[in-house]
Amino acid sequence: MRYVSTRGQAPELIFEDTMLTGLARDGGLYVPAAVPHIDARDIRALAGVPYEEAAFRVIRPFVGETFDEATLRRLIEDAYRDFGHAARAPLVQLAPGHFLLELFHGPTLAFKDFAMQLIGRMFQEVLTRRKQRITIVGATSGDTGSAAIEAFRGLENVDVFILFPYGRVSDVQRRQMTTPDEANVHAVAVDGDFDDCQAAVKEMFADATFRDEVGLAAVNSINWARVLAQTVYYFTAAVALGAPHRRVSFTVPTGNFGDIFAGLIAKRMGLPIDRLVVATNRNDILHRTLTSGAHQKAGVAPTISPSMDIEVSSNFERALFEVYDRDGPAVSQLMFELRAGGFDLSQGALARLREDFDSGRCDEDETAATITRVRRETGQIICPHTAVGAKVAAERLDPAVPMVTLATAHPAKFPDAVERATGHRPPLPPRMADLMERPERVVRAPNDLTALKTLIRERRSS
Ligand SMILES: *Cc1c(COP(=O)(O)O)cnc(C)c1O
Repeated sequence: MRYVSTRGQAPELIFEDTMLTGLARDGGLYVPAAVPHIDARDIRALAGVPYEEAAFRVIRPFVGETFDEATLRRLIEDAYRDFGHAARAPLVQLAPGHFLLELFHGPTLAFKDFAMQLIGRMFQEVLTRRKQRITIVGATSGDTGSAAIEAFRGLENVDVFILFPYGRVSDVQRRQMTTPDEANVHAVAVDGDFDDCQAAVKEMFADATFRDEVGLAAVNSINWARVLAQTVYYFTAAVALGAPHRRVSFTVPTGNFGDIFAGLIAKRMGLPIDRLVVATNRNDILHRTLTSGAHQKAGVAPTISPSMDIEVSSNFERALFEVYDRDGPAVSQLMFELRAGGFDLSQGALARLREDFDSGRCDEDETAATITRVRRETGQIICPHTAVGAKVAAERLDPAVPMVTLATAHPAKFPDAVERATGHRPPLPPRMADLMERPERVVRAPNDLTALKTLIRERRSS
């Protein structure tokens, strides 16, 4: 299995190098040279198997020689052992033909744990074998940083530095980053906003000397291994609802397009997915693109579903690569135009995107109203991101095709918005009930690239 860059100018890599590299050297994202196929009989055979076994069968063809079968099985078993639900990704029914896929039973209560818990172990395995050390540096608006810290805490060959905007993440998100006490974990509160943190990280990656000196690595959602881990729950959910003899649709609360792109990979592998529905909050660039073909930036407004407040949706590049017939230079040109504000899709590309994707938008009032309505109708309490998906999904239910909305975070992660909508403050699950009492450890840093690099040089263990 080889991986190629969406911009066509970087060397082809095998799985382990794709994983350790993150971003391709030409600025592109890695995708499989050819997507392996799972036939209908093998899909049917997933019915009733434990989540870990399904994960093994789906992931195995993508990793090539990087892990032998026994090692891959062990990494997967370890990754999901501490999830708070035996099914890992249980389905619950919301309405006739409408289901929620609960992806928030991992240690940081968001779907990002599914990928991060697995790639933390994959990194450790490969780095130990290669006797290599790396420094993971990432910026977060909340969920990615906590999932990364939880996955990489205590690992021997890794330091993990997470930059977050001081005072702008929720208490639960901050404490998930600042309470792990392992020496290789560094939560850095930057005096700036999320874009400042993100810009600082990008500049560190662009500085080849610094990059080599500290062994910089990225685990943000462009990392192929994360997308791969997320394809698994599309299979388990669809099979539980009758695939392969029955088609299933998915609605996905979308920001960086990583989670929904995993759904497209599942479909390309042979899973009978009918529609993949992109659900956006009022930061709706992807909905506008699928409606009009114009991919134009318009500025980001804060919402009560902050993990979707994104305008440059990195993984969308992977979908563009597909609908432009894997033409790297064409994708590079679009990305160049995006830096200046946006681009228009060709008619052919737009038509092909619409063969797989639908879209819808949910504003702030509708998000709150959906949390209220779902509580009233089902007793179920959903987080604001999930509510965006549930609203968009409810508008297009089809009696012939079950709809699955991805529940991307636990409501207790966003207690203020949920309490305003329902009058009920969702409690943390018992296994983390003491989160608010644990001591915090955080470095405060100025919004200054030189100071941040110095901090990383001095604090990482070598
Ligand atoms: C990250 C995140 C999303 C968006 O997922 P993408 O893969 O970036 O599209 C949605 N909801 C929650 C709770 C998240 O943490």
